[in-house]
Parts: sequence; C-alpha cells; structure tokens
Amino acid sequence: MTDLGEDPDREGLRDTPKRVEKAYKFLTSGYGADIDQVVNNALFTVDYSEMVIVKDIDFYSLCEHHLLPFFGKCHIAYIPSNKVIGLSKVPRLVDVFARRLQVQERLTNQIADTIRDKIAPVGVAVVMEATHLCMSMRGVEKQNSFAVTSAMQGAFRDNARTRMEFLELIKLRSAVPGIRESAGYACVGED
Ligand SMILES: [Zn+2]
Repeated sequence: MTDLGEDPDREGLRDTPKRVEKAYKFLTSGYGADIDQVVNNALFTVDYSEMVIVKDIDFYSLCEHHLLPFFGKCHIAYIPSNKVIGLSKVPRLVDVFARRLQVQERLTNQIADTIRDKIAPVGVAVVMEATHLCMSMRGVEKQNSFAVTSAMQGAFRDNARTRMEFLELIKLRSAVPGIRESAGYACVGED
C-alpha cells in the first residue's frame, strides 16, 4: 500500500489486509468444496429424456491473470439418460468452479465435464456470458470485455437441431442489445 502512495495506518485501511484475506478466502472457496457432497445427495433416477435447462444462473469468478472479477450468466442444459441433478444444486455446482482463479473457457468446460461425469447424460451444454473487469476497468481497448464461451458435448455437439433448440431457448432473455459477442477469451493475460 505504501508503494501505491497510501498510508496503511490510516483508519480506513488499517484492517484492509485482514478483510482482503477473508474476502479472497471466500472468493476461492471452491478449491475446498467437495463436488460429491454438493451433488451426490441430489441425483435422481428418471425415465424421461427431455432436455433439462437451467438458465440465467448468476456467477462471479476471478480472472487468474489479474485477480479481478469476471461475472455474468451461466446457462446449462442436458438430456438425461437415466439420472438428473436436483435443480437447486446446479447453481451450487457453478459456484464450486467459479470460486477459483479461472479463465472463462476452463470454467465453462469444468462445469460441463462434471455434469457428464456425474450423470452420464445423452448430452450436456454450458454457455457462459461474462464481463471482465480486468479489461473494462483497465480500459484495454483492443479486446472485448464481454465474452461468450460454450462447451457442447454428446448430442449438443453431434446434433445441430438439439444445439439450436438450446441456443434459441437461452436467447429469449439473455440477448442484450448492443453487446458484442466474442468467441475468444476476454482476458488472455497478455498484459
Ligand atoms: Zn484478466
């Protein structure tokens, strides 16, 4: 803090290191989370194979290059083969991976892989749209601060109609006019 030109002893800053430590412990608490504990009691056997969609899940994560937040919405769909995950557990699953130091692509794939591993669905799809403060706050003009990433597996990868059905359904509310979609990383840690 002295390096930044601040006085670490002034009242507002005295406890800041302690508060920052506590905040970052929470923001990275996903490392200590047990996936099995999050989902295992909420796996149910079903005899249908209709697409399950959970959309507009709010998430907050930290870019591993700058330790600044990126946050937005996560949309998840899967087609069960014989198991489903309790709906209330899906946002918790997102938190387990979001509360780590991340890049958006990896976060997206970790969520999809976990659903694949836990319930072996016919297909799983995860789309994440996020604003990256490490880009927008720092005024980095050359790259978008908004990025959309996706992970498509099984039927969502192999069957264009299934994929389109999902994308149509999440477009209904999440399409924000004026926001440019970027297929690449918002932050690649270049600077
Ligand atoms: Zn960054």
